[in-house]
Amino acid sequence: MSLSPRITALAPSATMAVDAKAKALRAAGEPVIGFAAGEPDFATPDHIVEAARAAAADPAMHRYTPAAGLAPLREAIAERARRDGLDVSADMVVVTNGGKHALYNVFMALIAPGDEVLVPSPYWVSYPEQIGLAGGTCVPVPSDAASGFRVSVEQLERARTDRTRALVFVSPSNPTGAVYPPEEVAAIGRWAAEHDVWVITDEIYRDLVYGDARFASLPVVAPEAAPRTVIVDGVAKTFAMTGWRVGWSIAPPEIAAGIAKLQTQLCSNVNNVAQAAALAALTGPTAPVDAMRVAFDRRRRAAVDGLRAIPGLEVVEPEGAFYVYPSVRELMGATIAGRTVRSSLELAEVLLDEAKVAVVPGEGFGSEASFRLSYALADDDLAEGIARIGALLADVTP
Ligand code: GLU
Repeated sequence: MSLSPRITALAPSATMAVDAKAKALRAAGEPVIGFAAGEPDFATPDHIVEAARAAAADPAMHRYTPAAGLAPLREAIAERARRDGLDVSADMVVVTNGGKHALYNVFMALIAPGDEVLVPSPYWVSYPEQIGLAGGTCVPVPSDAASGFRVSVEQLERARTDRTRALVFVSPSNPTGAVYPPEEVAAIGRWAAEHDVWVITDEIYRDLVYGDARFASLPVVAPEAAPRTVIVDGVAKTFAMTGWRVGWSIAPPEIAAGIAKLQTQLCSNVNNVAQAAALAALTGPTAPVDAMRVAFDRRRRAAVDGLRAIPGLEVVEPEGAFYVYPSVRELMGATIAGRTVRSSLELAEVLLDEAKVAVVPGEGFGSEASFRLSYALADDDLAEGIARIGALLADVTP
């Protein structure tokens, strides 16, 4: 038996791997605090769960439904985009098993072997792997703390070649929490339009911005890019619905039809009960979402303050999503709990073994000497986890 080269070359998801390890340790009785997967700790709001309950009792929902999604849900997604100012009809929407599946579909629909895709780094772990599965080449465009983890048009232009097919744009960003100001988003959109570069804009964190930061949807602030833009989004982060697995893409009609065709061969419709829940999420009251955002903001400030007090960590304040991405460059080569730490991978291992704290090392995000913490966990756990990291690193001489 041997695996195909496609799967042999595939890296496992670092976020999923650390999350699974932390959850397994907890199930085995270890007092692990998980800062790993970006997953709200809140229960899904009641009205959404109720809608799912009703759908589960409806025989029509026990059958196959259109592969591209339930008509009312596609319409609600299109309507939300229209409220943003976009010219979107329901046939441009395809409902998927989470945002991750939407991204996979989009790469499969847009990317031909040999195409290059620009991906600002640090990047979310699954972009390069999914681009590779589609036969494309991921071209990282690096950003760092000095640039607020944002890339410039000049950098993108330097990375562009005759083979550049698309740019993956994500603001608020996973893993850094960076939020591009509207004028920077517009400039990137204009650049993409000028050079016929497709934009795949991942808007999964659009509702999670804090302080003075503002979310700007790229095709809204750069309308000239809209004919070559695909939006990817989902209910997971905004509505505390990670396990329900409902995401979607919004693409120009020809691309959307291609994605829908792929879905007829791949998986047919997304679970109808989950789609009914997503519809309730998008059309229901926003108060629960607002309350969660307030909690995330409080935790964000607690995480930044707590981590900044720990020697060896350098923290850029995140303005969106629910991640903080400290640099641990000063700790490289240090001895921690009797172990020499040469990479963020090794540091994450020491943190898990010695402090029982799970973080995702920077390597998976395409940047070394960093790690990502999700602060979407209970306030007490957050405080305890950061105290443990502080205690472990207190005596370390960077
Ligand atoms: N997007 C979340 C994260 O980065 C969920 C895990 C995943 O799908 O990678 O943690």
